[in-house]
Amino acid sequence: MNIVLFGPPGVGKGTQSDMLVKELGITHFAMGDILRAAVSDGSDLGLKAKAYMDAGKLVPDDVVIGMIEERIRDSSVIAGFLLDGFPRNLSQAEALAVMLEKHGEKIDRVVFMDAPEDMLLERLSGRLICRACGFGFHRHYSPPREEGRCDRCGGELYQRDDDREEVIGQRLEVYGEQTKPLLDYYKALPSFRRLDASGEMKAVYAVLIEAVKS
Ligand code: AMP
Repeated sequence: MNIVLFGPPGVGKGTQSDMLVKELGITHFAMGDILRAAVSDGSDLGLKAKAYMDAGKLVPDDVVIGMIEERIRDSSVIAGFLLDGFPRNLSQAEALAVMLEKHGEKIDRVVFMDAPEDMLLERLSGRLICRACGFGFHRHYSPPREEGRCDRCGGELYQRDDDREEVIGQRLEVYGEQTKPLLDYYKALPSFRRLDASGEMKAVYAVLIEAVKS
């Protein structure tokens, strides 16, 4: 099974994807994580991407499309994949359709997750991430037992540079202008499902798994 999950920053795509790929035994391709790994490797592409990410803008299409195509090209050896954070604009969606066709793959579910903007702002500005294992916490909703330390591995917790308030506004603007129009591109497909992600994490997951399996 191949899935596309899209929605605004802070809606919970990463958290829900982690649970979904575990349950379905498929591979998680999280565009933001792939880019952050390229940044910390110090690769040329990573350096190019960093300036855009820090400013809350989209990394140029040629960079992200190439990174996703590499993974889809090699996907015949996995049970399926979940694309989280790709596509994020219309030209990426069109490029995805072309590369799926070329590599003999198709998307079985396109899931759009949404929540009100004040909730997105609150979720993003309180988000803390473990530097060692990547697990996510929230200052108020799911705080770590010990301040600044990951409950799972003891790693140091940090706030993503682009989760600072001055960048969040820009990311939400980019989402509204470039990613939200994907709704019109996908909503008529039989594989399309829309999900209210404003509830608590486990309740949202129950609806998500139902939407994916139905
Ligand atoms: P995320 O972790 O999904 O919130 O992504 C973090 C940042 O990575 C975004 O704000 C963009 O700068 C960049 N990014 C992630 N996915 C894409 C994409 N599909 N196209 C362009 N830039 C992306």
